[in-house]
Parts: sequence; C-alpha cells; structure tokens
Amino acid sequence: MKPISRLLSTFEALDAFIIEQHYSRCFILADSNTLHHCLPTLTTNCEQLCESEVFEIEPGEASKSIAIASGLWEALIESGADRSSCIICLGGGVITDLGGFVACTFKRGIPYIYVPTTILAMVDAAIGGKNGINVGAFKNQAGCFGSPDAIVVNNNWLSTLPFEELRSGYAEMLKHALLVSDPDHLASLLNQSTLNHEALTPYLGRSRNIKMGICEADPFEQNTRKMLNLGHTAGHAFESASHDIGSPLLHGEAIARGLLVSLHLSQLRCGFPESWAVRISDHIRNTFAIQPDDCTLRLPSETLWPYLLADKKNTENEVRFALLKALGSFEVSVTVTFEEFTETLNYLNAPS
Ligand code: NAD
Repeated sequence: MKPISRLLSTFEALDAFIIEQHYSRCFILADSNTLHHCLPTLTTNCEQLCESEVFEIEPGEASKSIAIASGLWEALIESGADRSSCIICLGGGVITDLGGFVACTFKRGIPYIYVPTTILAMVDAAIGGKNGINVGAFKNQAGCFGSPDAIVVNNNWLSTLPFEELRSGYAEMLKHALLVSDPDHLASLLNQSTLNHEALTPYLGRSRNIKMGICEADPFEQNTRKMLNLGHTAGHAFESASHDIGSPLLHGEAIARGLLVSLHLSQLRCGFPESWAVRISDHIRNTFAIQPDDCTLRLPSETLWPYLLADKKNTENEVRFALLKALGSFEVSVTVTFEEFTETLNYLNAPS
C-alpha cells in the first residue's frame, strides 16, 4: 500500500498530476447524483478528463455489491482498460469504497484517484486506505487495503449536498474531534447552531487530518486505529435495527445515537468527565433532532443486543466498545455487559 496519497486542491493540480503519472486513459465512476451535480464541473475544468468515458451507477448502498463491481470490471475490459488506466472516483463513500475496490482488484490493481463529494467521504471514507463492497445484507465484508494515487480536495461540491447527508457526515467530524486533545476544535463544532456547508468548511481539513494521523500511525488497525470505532458498536446496531422497524437512519444519524451511548459508557467505565459528556450529548440531541420519544433509541436492549454481539470486532462472545477516558485519550476494547448497556439506554431515555 502506498503510504500517503497526494492531496490536490485545484483542478489545475489534478490536470498536472494526471499528465505526470502517464496514465494510458482515465475512466470516471459516478452515481446519477454526482453525474448531475459534479461531473460537468470536473470535466469542464479538467482538460485531461474532458473526454473520459464515464461509468454511471445508481446512488445508494445497494450499489456496493459484487454484481455492480463485476459489471464495472466487464465495462473496463470492453473499453480496453490496461494496467496503466486510472479510475477517477467522483462521489461519496459508496463511490470511493466501490471504485477503490474495483481498481485494486482489476488486473491485480490499477491506479485510482478519489474526488470525494460528501462530507463523509471527504473526512472519512476517502482517507485510510480501506475499500470494499457489501455481501448481501452484511456491510463491507469483502475488500482490501489500498491507497488512491491522489485525493482531490474541493469543498465546493458540498453546495448541492442534501442537508441530511451533510449532517450525517458531521457525525464523523464530531467523532474525530473527540479523538484528539484539542478542546478549541471541539468547542468550535459544539458552537455550531445551524449546520450548513459554509459553516463546516473551515473544519473539514482538521477533521481529515485527524483521521489521516490515526491511520498513518496504525494503517492495518492493529491497535489505536480501532478508536475510530467510537460510537460505531451501538451505532451499527441502531442502523440495522432502524431498517428492521421501517424507520431507516442514515449512517451518521445512527452514529450520533451510538455516540450518546458511548459517551455515557465512557463516563461510567472510564471516568470521562461528566461536563464534557453532557455538553456533547446535548449538542448531538439538538443537531440530530433526537426527541425523547426517538423510536430507535427507545428500542429494547434485548432487540439491540444481538446486533452488538454480531459486531466483527468482538471476541469470545463479549461485546467490546471503544471508549474515552478524556478528550484524545481512549481505551479501544472495553467489555460492556448487557446490564450496563441496558442501564445506559434507560439513562438516555429517562425523562429530563
Ligand atoms: P453516498 O456515497 O451514498 O452519498 C450520499 C448521497 O449523496 C448519495 O445519494 C449521493 O449520490 C449523493 N451525493 C454525493 N455527493 C453529492 C453532491 N455533491 N451533491 C448532491 N448529492 C451528492 O454516502 P456517503 O455518506 O458519502 O458514504 C457512505 C459510505 O461510505 C458507506 O458505504 C460506508 O460504508 C462508507 N464508508 C467507508 C469508510 C472507509 O474507511 N472506507 C469510512 C466511512 C464510511
């Protein structure tokens, strides 16, 4: 795996980079939304891409499948792609995960470049070298590590991103802010009363750098990188259960609820300061409009527990959480009992 991808912040830099790399051809992978909102800007401003062949897929998680990957491998073969062809992945985390996976596996690996267009992809999915597809209902079960040659940083894409998608990505920005000891950065996020792309733009770089730093220190998730799972053990359970009850949450909306669980458990188990836990939790509830009668947070612990047990980070049938001791200080594998989880849900659902 290449240790670090080049960050390119202008279309001119992307043009120059493509020339420098001597790619035989460039193919663009987009979904129908990024094709509509982002592709014209990319091909108008980037001379090297103005005549590139475009592969379009349906937006959404269902496209991260072996069927779509296989269709893309076939399309690449039909179009005469060779080992020096480059795939430009223009979109959110679905496009970067899928496009990275297709590129890493086609002819045992061809070059690829990420052009992330959602907050989640900019600060999270495009960083850290993980790509992959889902296998049936099981997320990210097939994939590999591999890094794009370059990542194009352009926050202007966010102007067309729907509010719910913007907010979903913000959950990961909040999580990143808890993983470093930088109270000023966290306070800047907590002071956001209304979320919009202009307000968040100044903090995207910091958020991306936090994830980059964690991944560079532990690229294959042997230890400290596991901290990026903060909020995800319960978050994934909320995400799956929300689909079961017909009230599906976006990934970041589920992670926001997972962070509420992790903050309380961090206080109980690791001595995380109550003042921070309360302040951050209040902000999450307000930002994500989590009402006292929130149907996912109110699910019985018996319903959620099997999902927690199925989490792939667990060992020996015990549920393990990444928890905080303080801002920037954490334990990556704390065993949490059913009783502690139930108590936490009761606390979160208690009338205030
Ligand atoms: P997504 O790619 O589905 O994008 C969300 C929606 O926004 C889609 O409908 C998309 O078409 C649309 N969209 C994208 N950019 C747009 C723009 N600029 N204007 C208008 N619409 C736009 O979802 P996501 O939240 O970006 O990513 C979620 C995926 O990322 C999941 O599959 C998750 O597993 C993956 N992920 C991967 C990693 C990793 O380390 N590899 C980390 C976190 C998440």
